[in-house]
Amino acid sequence: MSSFEPRRRFSPFPGLRRTPVHVIGAGLGGLCLAQGLRRAGIDVAVYERDVSAFARAQGHRLHIDEHGRDALSATLPPHLFRLIAAIAGRPAPNINGFDPQLRPTGVFALDDSAPESATGDGLMPAHAVIDRHVLRQVLLSGLDDIVHFGRRCVGYDSDTGTVTARFADGGSAQGSVLVAADGVGSVIRAQRLPQAQVVDSQVRLIYGRVPLTSDLRGGLPPEMVSSVFNSVVGPGNRFVGIAPVQYRLPPATAATRLAPEITFPPIDDTLAVMFGCRLDHLGLSDTQLRAASGRRLRESVLEHLSGWHPLVTRIVERWTPTSIYPITVRSSVPVPPWPTSNVTLLGDAIHAMSPAAGAGANIALRDAAALAAALTEANTGRPLSDYEREMIDEGFRMVRLSAASGTRILAADPLPE
Ligand SMILES: Cc1cc2nc3c(=O)[nH]c(=O)nc-3n(C[C@H](O)[C@H](O)[C@H](O)COP(=O)(O)OP(=O)(O)OC[C@H]3O[C@@H](n4cnc5c(N)ncnc54)[C@H](O)[C@@H]3O)c2cc1C
Repeated sequence: MSSFEPRRRFSPFPGLRRTPVHVIGAGLGGLCLAQGLRRAGIDVAVYERDVSAFARAQGHRLHIDEHGRDALSATLPPHLFRLIAAIAGRPAPNINGFDPQLRPTGVFALDDSAPESATGDGLMPAHAVIDRHVLRQVLLSGLDDIVHFGRRCVGYDSDTGTVTARFADGGSAQGSVLVAADGVGSVIRAQRLPQAQVVDSQVRLIYGRVPLTSDLRGGLPPEMVSSVFNSVVGPGNRFVGIAPVQYRLPPATAATRLAPEITFPPIDDTLAVMFGCRLDHLGLSDTQLRAASGRRLRESVLEHLSGWHPLVTRIVERWTPTSIYPITVRSSVPVPPWPTSNVTLLGDAIHAMSPAAGAGANIALRDAAALAAALTEANTGRPLSDYEREMIDEGFRMVRLSAASGTRILAADPLPE
């Protein structure tokens, strides 16, 4: 169990007392921030538009790098970080390239130089893999009284002292700082920084999961099963991404030992598998994509893979239909720094990026840990502008890098510059 001090009511800005930090969005970044503020004893509330934590598909798997790992370590209660370290898979730090006949085209070695982080329950390397739902469940742990579901924010009113979030249900919440953690379609960003634009990359992904059964595992090239990610690129810049999710310890078993307050459903090893191509090559409009069943999406992808190696089509044939859904890949357009106020941002709300570099969640987690530290220190005079400057530099650097990776694979550059 956690060993927290009781929560103090605390204002991050001198002169303001008894006014909480309000966070809009209970995604990875918003929850990580809430954990960090709670750990620091700062009063925080999170408002999420979804009616529950798992009300909609949010992805199947995350590659956690040293930024994400260090952010989780800094913000979570130690026993929850130990739980993640015990569960998360430890792939070889490689991304393998293949052509459609599964002939290797190259291996990209990820930077593995960051030291392993010590936890009370072993070490967590710089590259780990975890099911997104599992991570979200850990991040939600202990926040029952802090996260408010079914509260869609529609805007805010601010003055020099306080900021008031407004909600679609007619309610409002006044605090000292408002944090936009509401993802790529952020309403807070639209009001706070109307000059910051998000563009459609014109790339669509179809994403699902495949049970990693022993017969499938045995038939795959060993490096495909042991690495972080595999990218099979075919004609017309169509690609299939294959990402194994293999647990060190079954989540339920690890939770029984390390965090009995969390109950995970039975979860088996899987492959998270995505098909991607440009919208104009897909043969389905956005309306058709959104309306299609999982089976229809799977059929459509199999049509694109005609003539590809039978193992690739066999993997896609095994997609669990209920797990399949389409994704529109969007990217923020970098903007110059702005004057800091009591409305700040983190993660995809300000620097959404194509998933090509697998970095968005890690940067959102890092923002969250940095913002938790900044708000903790703000009471002693360290300005939030330091947080924003670093967040802008690093976030937009990764936006550019992800756009460049996406351009190489898919020949679609989302950024106008
Ligand atoms: C296919 C795919 C694979 C990916 N794989 C990786 C990976 O391996 N590693 C990695 O680092 N990144 C990965 N990413 C990127 C990663 O998913 C995002 O960058 C990350 O989720 C951003 O976190 P966030 O907290 O900023 O936003 P989100 O996770 O999008 O959370 C935003 C939250 O705000 C809520 N919200 C939105 N509007 C409102 C409102 N008005 N009021 C209240 N609540 C609201 C939403 O419902 C949501 O819960 C991947 C992305 C995709 C599409």
